[in-house]
Amino acid sequence: MSNDRNWREKERSLSEVIRKYPDVSPFVIIKTDVQRRGVLYTEKALAAVDPDIHLTKLRSDYSNKEDLTPVSLTMRDGTSINVGDEGSGDAHSDRDPYQVDVVDGKIVLVDEGNVIEEVSYWEKPDYYEKVTSRGTPMWHVVSPRPQRLCIHPHQQCDFWKTPGYGCKFCTMSAVYHAGNKPELLNTQDIVETVAEALKEPGRNVNIFLTGGTLRGGKNFLDEELDCYIDILAGITRLFGGKRFPSQLISTAFSREQLRRLHDSTGLASYTADLEVLNKSLFEWICPGKAATIGYEEWKNRLYEAVEIFGRGNVDTGIVAGVELAQPNGFQTEEEALESTLSEADEISSHGVGVVGCVWKVHPGSVFRKQTSPSLEYYVRLARGLDQIRRKYNLSIDMDNYRRCGNHPDTDLSRI
Ligand code: SF4
Repeated sequence: MSNDRNWREKERSLSEVIRKYPDVSPFVIIKTDVQRRGVLYTEKALAAVDPDIHLTKLRSDYSNKEDLTPVSLTMRDGTSINVGDEGSGDAHSDRDPYQVDVVDGKIVLVDEGNVIEEVSYWEKPDYYEKVTSRGTPMWHVVSPRPQRLCIHPHQQCDFWKTPGYGCKFCTMSAVYHAGNKPELLNTQDIVETVAEALKEPGRNVNIFLTGGTLRGGKNFLDEELDCYIDILAGITRLFGGKRFPSQLISTAFSREQLRRLHDSTGLASYTADLEVLNKSLFEWICPGKAATIGYEEWKNRLYEAVEIFGRGNVDTGIVAGVELAQPNGFQTEEEALESTLSEADEISSHGVGVVGCVWKVHPGSVFRKQTSPSLEYYVRLARGLDQIRRKYNLSIDMDNYRRCGNHPDTDLSRI
């Protein structure tokens, strides 16, 4: 059920946006809207799920699901749709979700009774039902995307342990408290699972790590750094000690910490998410990050990461759309777009790519009563971010449609 029953009358429809932006792939526009609105599965769509073939159960930083709904969808051109790691359908509450149905024997997206596009369900990898030597189910340890292995060692975030410090769009702590996940994964379990997953030919192009902040250690964040170094060093040994296709999203490490991370592991690329490209909104929306590191220092650390990991190997993620959250966000989409793209341009001029995730309004977040922007806003923002990277000749292969698949703007770099 939508927060606003009349939302369709207030914004351009999917078909209108596709017609208005012929330079943007319609697959990317559909993906964006599905990620914004979510999906619900009809009985026929659920009957088409084969749990031996399709990915249904998932444990990750933002997910703990064991039902038989598919984890997510792929489109005909290979574009991934990440409908939300926390499961599907009613997790999205600010607009009516799309339906996934079966029509003429094909699995399709349906909106208001109209077939929009054919989709397929993500498939389960070979390692999924195996257990580690410690007896841990491997699917508890590494979660897959179609072409990526995802590792989330810390499944809670220390910022949520200080009242008022958690990011306002974030559901990690809510998911953690609702389930039975361990707070920290075991390194041996992780390395064994990755070794097993790599035996599947032709599937994986990237190994990805992220998790909640760990504030402890001799210096602030040393605990988080040591956790990642321990895991990455184990995986690096699987690659004969060489650098391997990989990405870490962590809290923004200091120059010394970045140097240690780079020099003691085979990690190939680095990300620290600013979440929103505006200092005062960062302070409102990400109070823990703002109080402990701060907006300008976060950016400095990204620029230092470019010196260490190299241009084209560092980016920062934004939760695209939260800049319009009320009451402190921008009052109009025009204003939000201009400000966000101008700051993205400045950051990219230092060799740091800016990539956007579509903000979904989640019931488990502080922002659960907010409304995300229009589809047209997301399409203009994705187009703008892609154009900025092209202007600076900044490769985003580290976070592209195969290595990640979550960002509409990096889908545009395929063309
Ligand atoms: S840093 Fe913010 S977005 Fe990331 S897990 Fe912690 S609270 Fe959530």
